[in-house]
Amino acid sequence: MKIVKPWVEVEKIDGVKIMKRLERACRTCYRSEGKITEDSYKNLLNNCITRGHESVLEHEKVSIRMCCDIGVYKDLTRHRIASFSIESTRYCSYDKDKYNNEIKFIEPAYIEDKQMMEVWKKSMLEIEKNYMELKKLGAKNDVCRLLLPHSTAAEVTMTANIREWKHIFELRCSNHAHPAIRQLLIPVLLYFKKEMPEIYKDISYDEELNKDYYAELRIVDDF
Ligand SMILES: Cc1cc2nc3c(=O)[nH]c(=O)nc-3n(C[C@H](O)[C@H](O)[C@H](O)COP(=O)(O)OP(=O)(O)OC[C@H]3O[C@@H](n4cnc5c(N)ncnc54)[C@H](O)[C@@H]3O)c2cc1C
Repeated sequence: MKIVKPWVEVEKIDGVKIMKRLERACRTCYRSEGKITEDSYKNLLNNCITRGHESVLEHEKVSIRMCCDIGVYKDLTRHRIASFSIESTRYCSYDKDKYNNEIKFIEPAYIEDKQMMEVWKKSMLEIEKNYMELKKLGAKNDVCRLLLPHSTAAEVTMTANIREWKHIFELRCSNHAHPAIRQLLIPVLLYFKKEMPEIYKDISYDEELNKDYYAELRIVDDF
């Protein structure tokens, strides 16, 4: 068994370039392409968002890749206007060398009580032991995966357009969302705020969440 920390990779984006492309798309509505200046996108996007003319934000997308627990992707995949590719518990056999013959679980850093953590660890060990035992008995992944808990680590690639990301951050970075999702998405939101302030600056997030819990954010040129 291996206990791992969550991480999230975001493709390197040029926020100004994205916002200028959104501006060009939007100006089709008014045939006002002639009004484009170096920073005209700022006012235009601000007006669109204030008035709810948000379909404009659907012309650009951003992908992320993350290592999260099954509970996180269960929640994220409820967002219907996003696309997902998820490590399959039907195709991945965790008894194989490729997986170091072990199951990875995401560390629930937000369980601060030592005794509770011990119970969690004991349960994960027991689950892994039973998974491997079923494998030795010849069980297929379809059967073994029945044992896998919410804490099981999985890699996920997710793509959403700029509008849907806005909606997802609003719901999943607030303190009503599960801490495991906040851990992953708050760092991504902070990156989006830096790159595209005109679009994301007003989105609030749970500022009380301990920053030590934040997933490692990696900005990558390509996946
Ligand atoms: C704190 C929290 C607790 C939750 N608890 C539960 C729970 O206990 N049980 C549970 O089942 N779910 C729960 N959910 C999931 C929630 O109900 C939504 O399914 C999920 O957040 C996806 O968001 P969404 O429906 O707004 O839209 P998305 O799928 O992200 O779509 C974006 C927007 O498109 C529009 N849209 C998409 N599809 C339709 C449609 N068919 N008809 C009309 N408009 C549409 C809506 O405006 C929607 O807001 C919870 C979510 C949160 C954030």
